[in-house]
Amino acid sequence: MCQFCVQHGDGKAWYLQAENYVASLEDDLERREYIIDFVQGFSEKQPGRLRGLQLLDQIPAPLSSLAKKHLTAKQKKHHFGQPVPIEECEQILEFATSVVRLPCVCRTAAGTPDNGYCLAVTVGPVDGTLKEAFAGYEGGPDTGAFQNLTKEETLTVLRQCEKEGLMHSVWTFGSPLIAAICNCNIESGCMAMATTVTHDLKTMWRGEYVIDLDETACTNCGACERRCPFGALSFNRKEKRLSVDLKACYGCGTCRSACSADALTLLPRAESPTMAKVW
Ligand code: SF4
Ligand code: SF4
Ligand code: SF4
Repeated sequence: MCQFCVQHGDGKAWYLQAENYVASLEDDLERREYIIDFVQGFSEKQPGRLRGLQLLDQIPAPLSSLAKKHLTAKQKKHHFGQPVPIEECEQILEFATSVVRLPCVCRTAAGTPDNGYCLAVTVGPVDGTLKEAFAGYEGGPDTGAFQNLTKEETLTVLRQCEKEGLMHSVWTFGSPLIAAICNCNIESGCMAMATTVTHDLKTMWRGEYVIDLDETACTNCGACERRCPFGALSFNRKEKRLSVDLKACYGCGTCRSACSADALTLLPRAESPTMAKVW
């Protein structure tokens, strides 16, 4: 059980608690302003953010680590994420009453292709925050760029994302409000993955699971290697052998969709003898 489940989930998976998606949380003025500020001007702020991250990697290590610690603490308070396997996305959809597919802000800023991979999820009616935050963005919420999805349509999108090797994750906006299920990989221009994976500044935490490789079922075909957004799978082409770096695994389950031998399953992190306390 991660720190967020303890803090925001009463000891259960924090992202499966319906109250963390309730639109009325947005009534909190500070949170509302944070969401609006986050979305508006995201593209314009992006080059500066990227320069800041590069700078953090260049300054002396003790200073950089101090700054990163401070920024991570802020992220936990305002905007952090965690990978969620598709089975649990499905559980979220059991209680979510509104899903809006919208243009992804990271891809828009990075200029990478976007087929609507960002899903705003709420319990209860969507109030004005979404509309206000996205006013004027890609034509605005009243255009075709913003689509209301049924549960089945959402699942179709999520399954398509799996096929494309995209990881699902949930994100807070003023924790504990969870406002989105994102679907990304490093190539998509995802800012969160760049900060976490490329610049070692934690904005995303490991998920509640860890991958379990059944070596007897694995045919060592290597198909899963490229599916892992975190480089946890390596395939030795000479020896034709797959190896797993459990410490690098974020437990997203994205790799499973590449395996036709059913050799990859998710094990609850808490049950892993070596990874139970690694977040
Ligand atoms: S986290 Fe992912 S889906 Fe969400 S806005 Fe960024 S790239 Fe898009
Ligand atoms: S090995 Fe771990 S991090 Fe990589 S895709 Fe599989 S579950 Fe996700
Ligand atoms: S895709 Fe499946 S069978 Fe192929 S190397 Fe990966 S785990 Fe093994």
